[in-house]
Amino acid sequence: MSHPKITIVGAGNVGATCALWAAAADLGDVVLVDIADGLAAGKALDLTQTAPIQGFAHAVAGTTDYAATAGSDLAIVTAGLARRPGMSRDDLLAKNAEIVSGIVKRLVAASPEVILIIVSNPVDAMTSLAHRASGLPTERVVGMAGILDSARMRAFLAEAAGVSPKDVQAYVLGGHGDTMVPLVRQSSIGGLPLSARLTPDAIDAIVQRTRNGGAEIVGLLKTGSAFYAPAAAAVTMAQSILRDERRVLPCAAYCDAEYGVGGYFVGVPARLGAGGVQEVLEFDLDAQERAAFDSSVAHVRGLVDKLGQLGY
Ligand code: NAD
Repeated sequence: MSHPKITIVGAGNVGATCALWAAAADLGDVVLVDIADGLAAGKALDLTQTAPIQGFAHAVAGTTDYAATAGSDLAIVTAGLARRPGMSRDDLLAKNAEIVSGIVKRLVAASPEVILIIVSNPVDAMTSLAHRASGLPTERVVGMAGILDSARMRAFLAEAAGVSPKDVQAYVLGGHGDTMVPLVRQSSIGGLPLSARLTPDAIDAIVQRTRNGGAEIVGLLKTGSAFYAPAAAAVTMAQSILRDERRVLPCAAYCDAEYGVGGYFVGVPARLGAGGVQEVLEFDLDAQERAAFDSSVAHVRGLVDKLGQLGY
């Protein structure tokens, strides 16, 4: 795609940082939307003034009006409440459901061909809701989480092993929450199994820290949740789709027969390219990994059921 148009809804911490990464990567023209008057326009103007310094060519606009988003190829939805200390992602369900369903309807009305990347939490349930509310085909709706959780695990492993994070692979599947499933067996450091470089206790500690990765940052920030890595993750997904890079990235993709999920959006490795989710890749899970994955999917299903009870 030569000149893509990207809408980012929510000009808060995650949304504004997505706009920054997208502009820095010269990914396309960016329209930042927020309900708060002037917030998106102000941040877009500020970002526009980085263009002469950073040397990017695409435009960044900010607005409260969806008319300006018309013809978007891709939209990243980051609007909604973020966690504060003591809150789980699930505590955000009812409020963010109202926000996300209203937003995706407006987005699709202005851009019928749009591909949606959902970031708002609880993300697996919000992705499911976005799919239903938008009426888009499943391959054009995807949630950001696994790439972030895997990046956290890779960063912790790299630090512990004393190697570059670029040479560490790790996969975190399942729902984005306490039930996420970090896959130790499929992760590697310089192509070697984790056990070649780290003790079982060190690996266990990293698995726990990965599961708690978001809460650790919430506890430090006190007024909100992580945004640099989440935004980098969402923009990497957007880039893979818009430039048809076909990267295999863990994300909340629609699975029916895949992994025996039965029709929910959950964290799995997916090939992202032109058109959105091109394929879900299936790991051969052992009994323990399968049990953890199934229990994570059951948690996501519970949240989607709650959405149903709330009328979504
Ligand atoms: P933030 O409070 O900094 O920004 C949220 C923005 O949404 C605010 O500017 C607010 O005005 C805007 N907003 C609210 N309702 C809106 C509406 N109807 N239309 C347009 N804009 C609206 O929060 P944040 O740190 O940017 O986090 C945003 C969301 O992303 C939260 O739900 C958070 O939990 C989630 N998140 C998800 C992940 C993930 O891994 N999926 C990671 C980090 C954050």
